Amino acid sequence: MTSDIALSPLLIDGEWLATDRVYENINPSDTEERVGRFHLADAALARRAVAAATLAQPAWVDQSPQLRAEVLDRAGSELLARRAELGELLAREEGKTLPEATGEVQRAAQIFKFQAQQALQAEGELYASTRAGLRVEVRREPVGVVGIITPWNFPIAIPAWKIAPALAYGNTVVFKPAESVPASAWALVDILQRAGLPPGVLNFVPGSGREVGQTLLDDTRVRAISFTGSVATGQRVAAACSARQARYQLEMGGKNPLVVLDDADLEIALDCAVQGAFYSTGQRCTASSRLIVTKGTYTKFRDALIARVAALRVGHALDPDTQIGPVVDEAQLAQDLRYIALGREEGARLAVGGELLHRRRPGHYLAPALFVDVDNTMRISQEEIFGPVAVLIAADDAEHALALANDTPFGLSAGVCTGSLKLAHHFQRRLQAGMVMVNAPTAGVDHHVPFGGSKASSVGPREQGTQARQFFTQTKTSYIRP
Ligand code: ADP
Repeated sequence: MTSDIALSPLLIDGEWLATDRVYENINPSDTEERVGRFHLADAALARRAVAAATLAQPAWVDQSPQLRAEVLDRAGSELLARRAELGELLAREEGKTLPEATGEVQRAAQIFKFQAQQALQAEGELYASTRAGLRVEVRREPVGVVGIITPWNFPIAIPAWKIAPALAYGNTVVFKPAESVPASAWALVDILQRAGLPPGVLNFVPGSGREVGQTLLDDTRVRAISFTGSVATGQRVAAACSARQARYQLEMGGKNPLVVLDDADLEIALDCAVQGAFYSTGQRCTASSRLIVTKGTYTKFRDALIARVAALRVGHALDPDTQIGPVVDEAQLAQDLRYIALGREEGARLAVGGELLHRRRPGHYLAPALFVDVDNTMRISQEEIFGPVAVLIAADDAEHALALANDTPFGLSAGVCTGSLKLAHHFQRRLQAGMVMVNAPTAGVDHHVPFGGSKASSVGPREQGTQARQFFTQTKTSYIRP
């Protein structure tokens, strides 16, 4: 297969297939530009993919771990070598800036190289038995066929951090990417397939969530679902999987607080706020969408932040001057605008941004919006918007800021900016989140350590790093009399 994305096929059982359904992939920076055309699967093809993965799984787990490691490592090397080209493709289909997109491809490469090594790690423990003459072996085994369902905001990194450990530990995969970003997903699958995967080990079925995604949720041969997306869909995944006793791992929303205390370094705090809230167009589940600032520094911080946000350069994802790319598509733009209108109705003050912007090419350009003097009980403070929209909330003191930070159903990432070691340590322990950042943005995480949240943000074992093993393997305890 070449990397020609003019009309890209599905992959089932090692064969590239065409169908009569086609998706037109449009560039959000220039809605007159088509990034590619993609064949789509339906429910019957999704079931065929599951059948292929089921058939391929026993042989894949019996392959030498060295071979599994080499395939994944080769895929990582190709991703790394092609990061400029694939970064451009990703930026064109998703709208994040070229440096952000290239960085994402590089991260995917690092994930494959890291997880490749996990294929060769010790897979169990030996115990003495309480009974004479017996020994006990505790082994981690693959779960079987894994369904991987991903969102549009990290079109290559999220598939990578699910697919790499799934394959490393001997599972086979049916992969359904988000409807709007098939190009990066296709490129990744093409690379993996050419790196030497046997037929059926990885199957690629782009298509609608309701049809193809739901088919994976309901098929009893799919023993585990790893999902990242909205809370509403995550609840469907949980319901479908628990009804048939399949395991699931959900990464869903966030409404991540960044707390700025009176003694914070103002420049560091402003950088954390601007990057965390608005970079990647605010379309990250770890975005700092709630900025909570204690009153000794509130006014100074607010005025400086308004100036910084007003100066952000919004534009075409491939323009080297652009800091903030377009919103991904019309539906997301409509959601952002609805929340901006709602914020005004709720009585929050829109200090800067929030209006549509016109650029040389027609695209979904939105000026980054900052609401100030906001109350944490407002809907714009409680619900995930998933766009370049942030709220600034005043707190009386550090304890009040901590209480406000935790007053959310979500718990993915949380940050604090302070010069005090004592306060940093206090917040590190008390912030209710799976990831805590001290004097660093809430978004932007490493690939080799656990990723995930608490409360309504995540369900199931953590993703990434060595902890990915928890989800993609299951324990078998054997009692052996030699
Ligand atoms: P987002 O707002 O990030 O797009 P969604 O939850 O809508 O979040 O989508 C995340 C992924 O879940 C996408 O791949 C989408 O196609 C898929 N999806 C949507 N509905 C379903 C469903 N009923 N069953 C399985 N997957 C679904």
